[in-house]
Amino acid sequence: MNTRQIASDYGLRVTHTTIKNIERVAKKFDLESEDLIENAFAINDEDIVLGIYKDIKLKEAAFFHEIGHTIITSQYEKLVHNDEMLIEFQAWIEGLKIAKKYGYKFSNKTFEYILTSVNSYYKHALKVYNK
Ligand SMILES: [Zn+2]
Repeated sequence: MNTRQIASDYGLRVTHTTIKNIERVAKKFDLESEDLIENAFAINDEDIVLGIYKDIKLKEAAFFHEIGHTIITSQYEKLVHNDEMLIEFQAWIEGLKIAKKYGYKFSNKTFEYILTSVNSYYKHALKVYNK
């Protein structure tokens, strides 16, 4: 999958973290090195930073999700009163639409990963609600 090309189609740069560049990437984007393990970020709607993933398929799913974040409008954020969970859901929806556009096929494992991610926001939201 050509992440550079896809990111560029959305006016974004993509950075792939490796064992070799992890310190440099963390410093450049003001992150902790440990944040760059099994994690990805959209920074200022300009950069997609992909951490080190054991499974490249999960990294690809995260890549689409982070692009999704960059195309969420302030209008949407206003609509949902900046609800974090709804913004995360929308980022997955947008990400899936982009993946479909590029003919990307998700494996069963990736699908499970997405469901787990979506459920984790929900669990978090319930915890906050039930405090
Ligand atoms: Zn997210």
